[in-house]
Amino acid sequence: MNKRDFIKIAGGGMLSSGVSNWFKRSTDDNKIGDNSFFEKGFYIWTRPNVKENSKEIQQRYRKYAEKGIRGIMFESDSEEHFSIAKEAGMQAHRWMWTMNRGERYLLDNHPDWYAVNRKGVSCAEHPPYVNYYRWLCPSKPEVKDYLLEQSREILEKEYVDGIHLDYVRFCDVILAVNLWDTYDIVQQKETPEYDFCYCSDCREQYARLYGKDPLTDLKYPGQQDSWRQFRYDSITEIVTAIAGKAKDHKKPISAAVFPTPEIARRLVRQDWSNWPLDAVFPMIYHGFYQEPPHWIGKAAMDGLRVLRGDFPMYAGIFLPDFHNKEEIETGILSAKNAGVRGVSIFGNIDDTILNIIDKHREF
Ligand SMILES: [Zn+2]
Repeated sequence: MNKRDFIKIAGGGMLSSGVSNWFKRSTDDNKIGDNSFFEKGFYIWTRPNVKENSKEIQQRYRKYAEKGIRGIMFESDSEEHFSIAKEAGMQAHRWMWTMNRGERYLLDNHPDWYAVNRKGVSCAEHPPYVNYYRWLCPSKPEVKDYLLEQSREILEKEYVDGIHLDYVRFCDVILAVNLWDTYDIVQQKETPEYDFCYCSDCREQYARLYGKDPLTDLKYPGQQDSWRQFRYDSITEIVTAIAGKAKDHKKPISAAVFPTPEIARRLVRQDWSNWPLDAVFPMIYHGFYQEPPHWIGKAAMDGLRVLRGDFPMYAGIFLPDFHNKEEIETGILSAKNAGVRGVSIFGNIDDTILNIIDKHREF
């Protein structure tokens, strides 16, 4: 499977006039209001096309901004793309793969940093589902340090408005139901080969807290609340550390996450409603869950109810899941009615999409 079938994205930027107010907000007024760095409206996820010349980029980004796109999440670095997006009046955020990292350097030098499943198999040697699934273990101090260094390199670039985390979770212990046919797999319960992380560090750390080895002492590890919570918390700690780094640089942090807090915990052990974010971009990709477009609003409402205004939400939609223009509008309107601050889009941004954005630009 192509990795793009699996994902999402996002972006942003920082106008100097708004920065100080945004950053100085106190915990008392930490409810969503004009103090959010993130603007109401549309964001998109994309990978900068380095073959494009600056004139083409300028024309395209000016058009995006005119039609109502407020920010771009860029999957890779490009000073030219970031700068032109900002000149056009949009935010430019850097989208970073967080726990899923298959860079050669890590695989060659630190294979012991990778997550291990309940059968003792490491993602470094045998990635689950697809070859690019190379999940790091969140409990190792070396992993945290490495990710903080990667974040620092991003955040210190003057043209980067903020950091946007993706793949900040465990490997899917259960895949979204629409992928079961793709992999010829039925996952009505958690199974050992997709259940991570049973590395020695995680087992020792959990045992120190609860007096049991999760690999050998738990009869039903999938049902052990403290063992699930331990893993939610280990990811939350990584996010908290990177958020601290973002704060040092006075830049916002956001994340692309699974569609609702409940689905995120159940499928990928991701407890995003408890993260210290400036905005969240749940990937409410209805087709992955075999749901209709109006489910997007329902899922958004699930998250908003849990967040209670701690930080704003942008409902992520996946264009290939829609069959026509009307369905896209249904999805956007359902999210608006739920009360999101904006919508983020993954997919090809053509004139049809730009006109839909223009029509629904007010939030
Ligand atoms: Zn581990």
